[in-house]
Amino acid sequence: MAREKVISAGDQEEAQEVSVVSPIEKEEDRREWNLRPHTLDEYIGQTTVVENLQIGIVAARRRQEPLEHVLLHGAPGLGKTTLAHIIAAEMGASIISTSGPALEKPKDVMGILSSLEVGDVLFIDEIHRLSRVIEEFLYSAMEDFQVDFVLDKGAYAKTIKIPLKRFTLVGATTRAGMLSAPMRDRFGIFAHMDYYSVEELKKVVERSARILNVPIEAGGALEIARRSRGTPRIANRLLRRVRDFAEVEYDGVVTQKIADIALGREMVDEMGLDKLDRAFLRTIIEFYNGGPVGIEALSATLNEETDTLVDMVEPYLLKIGFLNRTPSGRKATQTAFRHLGMAFHGEGEPLLPLAP
Ligand code: ADP
Repeated sequence: MAREKVISAGDQEEAQEVSVVSPIEKEEDRREWNLRPHTLDEYIGQTTVVENLQIGIVAARRRQEPLEHVLLHGAPGLGKTTLAHIIAAEMGASIISTSGPALEKPKDVMGILSSLEVGDVLFIDEIHRLSRVIEEFLYSAMEDFQVDFVLDKGAYAKTIKIPLKRFTLVGATTRAGMLSAPMRDRFGIFAHMDYYSVEELKKVVERSARILNVPIEAGGALEIARRSRGTPRIANRLLRRVRDFAEVEYDGVVTQKIADIALGREMVDEMGLDKLDRAFLRTIIEFYNGGPVGIEALSATLNEETDTLVDMVEPYLLKIGFLNRTPSGRKATQTAFRHLGMAFHGEGEPLLPLAP
């Protein structure tokens, strides 16, 4: 496995209770490192991404050169950090992990860059959240493997060029659109990761159950997979919840029925939607007549941060076709109305009374 060093901006987990289907990493997820696949062969799904990386890695190894810089784009919990570690391991290199918000001063970045050996992986999570200064500082590091470092200030300012070893930067982002064009252009490999299919998630659940020694029936794994909103991190978390329930209330075997009851108690419905997802859709339907409505208005009505809605709630609702994003705002689709047991009123028509 790759040797790793982590540089973080402190614990960013919020004190407030986080939903069981939130894709954001929690302490309980962090503890289970053994669930992460360690090789590309073990990595489930994301076939195109894996194939492209495989080719890049084999070619780089053959040329005895470091891998090109890699940009991983996709929703939280889809396996970007896992892939960064796999890349380092497959290249036989060390990995230094940090995140955009943790890199504040060029001096700190300089320290990290100059500690990198040839081929090492510098993993920057949330790379879209780098400050402009740091981003510009990284340009020449990525392109020419050297940095211009300014010593002193004002009249005494002096720029020195510091050479760096050829490293690989692996950046992860949930918002590729927020990266500047020069930054995007410096990546040789661009991998977009999509939500996992239910079948793939079922494999993730079965693999994790094996590692955790949890007896599970195919129906149980399928039920958990269905409610995991396309996200392996959520699948693993739901598996742990259902396992605990099966152990305490039943004989420990995870069956479909037990998964169904346990997840119902966690307020996760058959589509994997939680309270906030449902409140989001209900607000569009009941307050805004099905939409279109702007995200700012929704954020104010729900008393939730716009970023939470854009990053956590909307992507999955868009993916499963419950939400449409139009130039004039967000709209709930007919399927969303049906899922919530509400009568669809059609385009521009007044809202019908709710179904009994
Ligand atoms: P991200 O960095 O995109 O937020 P992570 O790499 O931290 O996501 O993945 C979250 C968890 O999901 C990991 O701990 C791992 O156990 C699991 N996971 C992610 N991708 C896969 C995969 N392809 N196969 C099996 N498990 C996976």
